[in-house]
Amino acid sequence: MSDVHVHRVQPAWKKSALIDNDTYLKWYADSVKNPDKFWGKHGKRIDWFKPFTKVKNTSFNGKVSIKWFEDGQTNVSYNCIDRHLKKRGDQTAIIWEGDNPYDDRKITYNELYAHVCRFANVLKKHGVKKGDRVTIYMPMIPETAYAMLACTRLGAIHSVVFGGFSPDALAGRIDDCKSTIVVTADEGLRGGKPIPLKDNTDKAIDIAAKAGTKVEKVVVVRRTGGKTGWVPGRDVWYHDEAATVKADCKPEKMKAEDPLFILYTSGSTGKPKGVLHTTAGYLVYVSMTHQYVFDYHDGDIYWCTADVGWVTGHSYIVYGPLANGATTLMFEGVPNYPSQSRFWDVIDKHKVNIFYTAPTALRALMGAGDGYVKKTSRKSLRVLGTVGEPINPEAWEWYFNVVGNAKVPIVDTWWQTETGGILITPLPGATDLKAGSATRPFFGVKPQLVNGDGTALEGAADGNLCIADSWPGQMRTVYGDHDRFVQTYFSTYKGKYFTGDGCRRDADGYYWITGRVDDVINVSGHRMGTAEVESALVSHDKVSEAAVVGYPHDIKGQGIYCYVTLMAGAASSEDLRKELVAHVRKEIGAIATPDKIQFAPGLPKTRSGKIMRRILRKIAEDDYGALGDTSTLADPAVVDDLVANRQNKR
Ligand code: ATP
Ligand code: MG
Repeated sequence: MSDVHVHRVQPAWKKSALIDNDTYLKWYADSVKNPDKFWGKHGKRIDWFKPFTKVKNTSFNGKVSIKWFEDGQTNVSYNCIDRHLKKRGDQTAIIWEGDNPYDDRKITYNELYAHVCRFANVLKKHGVKKGDRVTIYMPMIPETAYAMLACTRLGAIHSVVFGGFSPDALAGRIDDCKSTIVVTADEGLRGGKPIPLKDNTDKAIDIAAKAGTKVEKVVVVRRTGGKTGWVPGRDVWYHDEAATVKADCKPEKMKAEDPLFILYTSGSTGKPKGVLHTTAGYLVYVSMTHQYVFDYHDGDIYWCTADVGWVTGHSYIVYGPLANGATTLMFEGVPNYPSQSRFWDVIDKHKVNIFYTAPTALRALMGAGDGYVKKTSRKSLRVLGTVGEPINPEAWEWYFNVVGNAKVPIVDTWWQTETGGILITPLPGATDLKAGSATRPFFGVKPQLVNGDGTALEGAADGNLCIADSWPGQMRTVYGDHDRFVQTYFSTYKGKYFTGDGCRRDADGYYWITGRVDDVINVSGHRMGTAEVESALVSHDKVSEAAVVGYPHDIKGQGIYCYVTLMAGAASSEDLRKELVAHVRKEIGAIATPDKIQFAPGLPKTRSGKIMRRILRKIAEDDYGALGDTSTLADPAVVDDLVANRQNKR
């Protein structure tokens, strides 16, 4: 292997692993050569009411049509619960860890069955039937998973909206899919602070009504007991309703291609899209990736720290793990409450074996110092994972060495809301790791790098990342707007799914996501991924986080503008600015010399923790009057500080 940061598969990882390298290579070759045969076999990992006889029927051309297992019938909730009851009815399905460390709960598969059936019966009682859209605006509590599974039991389509979103953002999503029922809670609780979910819902319902969608029913789960407004007739308490219904509910027979859920993308690049996933292909794909990517073994305790409001929560807290009969941990709180050790404390408390989180959380915890990690044991860990953004090698090495004690493999998983499940990733016993690379494609996935005019590039290359053929977990359409689906994903490069991400493939065939294609900058004719410059900055020991954008530059075409957040205790100064410029030159070369460095106490992020470079670009261009859609921003106040201290005043 050519690069420096290589971590070979350790003997211990190989020993128990489900897949070794030879198996990976063989299965991968089979999967792309004969997808019908490969997925025909693995399609049977879920239970079917009516077995499928057709496997793949997909076209990326013309109107674009994607169908998998189309003549089969199944049910997602049946697969996630009922089929496990005989063997593991008394096994814990969900470990719930509350915001308060003294607050936790364990739910067995038998209990999950009863809860989900009751929830389904409550929804049914209020008129929900197959095909109806149910909006779920909830905190991270087990009832959220019950509500999701209850929808799938009835064949209703859920649209989960992240509990951190504003009334406006919620209203837009209610109206977009014309959802007339909302499931919410009185309040959420994060970091000790209540979040007024029901009050937000009330406001959102008024806004949605003006836009033309009238919400008829609000089912409210009691979480904190805090006071909320109440509209008699429209609002009902979940616990009152649940007491009136049976703990048994027959799962609907669903066609493979019946809609399962709508989920809006996180809005890093613009107006969120209503991504539609369907029943069988999605479930097959997420259960298979959950098993092999995390090297999941029966009995493992598995924890994904995402919120269920994001696709990661759908696929890898709820559906993938439960389809596999796993014990999945659901965490209500935040990484720094009551202390910066919380993640590691929870790992020790519940003996977590597999831990999956995001680079944004890792960088924040790295910034807080190693002490918070080192005082915990983390001995139970066997696999670490990351998702959401490119992970810079510095943070990767910290995760590997400090969190994993250099003994645990990291799976850097690349995927999107649109892809349903993980597409590019290492497999723990099979893949030698390189810090910062998502490494190789999962079974059945055909990545392709293309240049500006759509020509496919061979060998080591740098280009736009497309996927050349369909996989079962792929989104089927943009809800209610198939033209937008075709336009967004299949029109840039004819006959290919375009991801919007830039990517490099190295001589070993490893994939390195370089960020969004929109984020590539062109300095004096040299194309450069912003991720590369960011990694160089973060490798300086005083820097905790960095975001880099281009801005118009008279001589170079584009100049390099860096926003830099310092480690706790480090102070900004002119000297440090010079030092950072020199550091980037040393790490990458003179071509990457930063033109502007702005010290920023915080960066604008989406609620899922992704840096919104679109906003940073506007500020760097001194065009901050037109910041566009900021409704998915986590902390709007950050922007004011950035504008006030901009380095490019005209
Ligand atoms: P929108 O599409 O609305 O702009 P979004 O792209 O942020 O929002 P998601 O579907 O949540 O919405 O995120 C997918 C994107 O996240 C990918 O396209 C990629 O840019 C980034 N990403 C996810 N995982 C990784 C990873 N392991 N390495 C690099 N980038 C990643
Ligand atoms: Mg996207």
